[in-house]
Amino acid sequence: MGPDYKFTRLTENAFGSDPVDRIGTACWDHALDLETESEKWRLVRATLDSRKPFQDFVYCAVGGNGSPMYVKASGRPVFDANGEFRGYRGTGTDVTAIVRAQRAEESLRTVEAELAHVSRVTTLGQLTSSITHEVNQPITAAVTYALAARRFLSAEPPNLREADDALSLIVKEGNRAGEVVGRIRALIKKAPARKDAVAINDAILEVIALTRTEATKNSVSVRTQLAEDLPRVQGDRVQLQQVLLNLIINAIEAMRDVGEEQRELLISARNEPDGVSVEVRDSGPGFAPAALERVFEAFYTTKPGGLGLGLSICRSIIEAHNGRLWASPNLPRGASFQFALPAIANTAS
Ligand code: ADP
Repeated sequence: MGPDYKFTRLTENAFGSDPVDRIGTACWDHALDLETESEKWRLVRATLDSRKPFQDFVYCAVGGNGSPMYVKASGRPVFDANGEFRGYRGTGTDVTAIVRAQRAEESLRTVEAELAHVSRVTTLGQLTSSITHEVNQPITAAVTYALAARRFLSAEPPNLREADDALSLIVKEGNRAGEVVGRIRALIKKAPARKDAVAINDAILEVIALTRTEATKNSVSVRTQLAEDLPRVQGDRVQLQQVLLNLIINAIEAMRDVGEEQRELLISARNEPDGVSVEVRDSGPGFAPAALERVFEAFYTTKPGGLGLGLSICRSIIEAHNGRLWASPNLPRGASFQFALPAIANTAS
């Protein structure tokens, strides 16, 4: 292009159109993102005006057939023998397919994040009754202690020591209710992925506490086998708890199909050569070998009201943590879901 940045020569079929149509025009005469990305254009204009080379400048232009195309352009300034600026010489590549794929990937990620949030909240919705129960217990206890404190104070003579003890117990119960609420808030909070050093056993125990009432209601006996010297794993504690919550709720739901006396849930955490593994094992009906991989597919569900997204989201979360999540049959019956995560070095807790 010449010193006025207008095209002077173009290869055959540049921009998918007849070069004649573009000669004598500047690239911004055909751009579709001048207004939406004005800053980008201001910068490239400044580069040209200062006669510097530009590289991999991507913009959206009208293509030969009238539809938008993305162009990636690079160029160097040209000076004549007297050092006079004569314009730019460069190349442009059609990157429409690449940009489209990137955009699709980005929107997929956003949707995935939204879905993780939705399913987290929905699962919690199902647990509302169990949460209400957890919060109600300490409140009821606190009211009982308050009534006792009043009795101690109105006695003749007032029993200050007993009243003081009752008040301490009220404080304790109040804190307990606060903790339950705090745990729930942490679970629903839509936080971006964090990089905490997660003590996996604590994370497991919190989720078990949250699901205890649900397990009891379904006559499921819950056992744990948590190794004591586990290293910490790096990641988002709430997301990892979301995975556990999904696996535990799935297991409880699956065991509705077997006799009450056979409903056993075992949650274990073990040391692995390069990290930790966690297993959620139930004694439900299990699944057919053909379903082993399908359960992780999005929208695969065998439940009348199921969405079929839980396990696929769980897998994306674990893979985002550089781990693996897989299913296997539990013997003699039931299902086992395991995930393995790499450890942060030297963090045995
Ligand atoms: P949803 O719970 O909405 O069905 P999921 O992705 O959580 O979606 O699970 C997909 C399917 O995997 C379930 O519908 C069920 O058929 C199967 N599944 C999941 N967990 C278990 C389990 N513990 N035992 C047997 N089948 C299971």
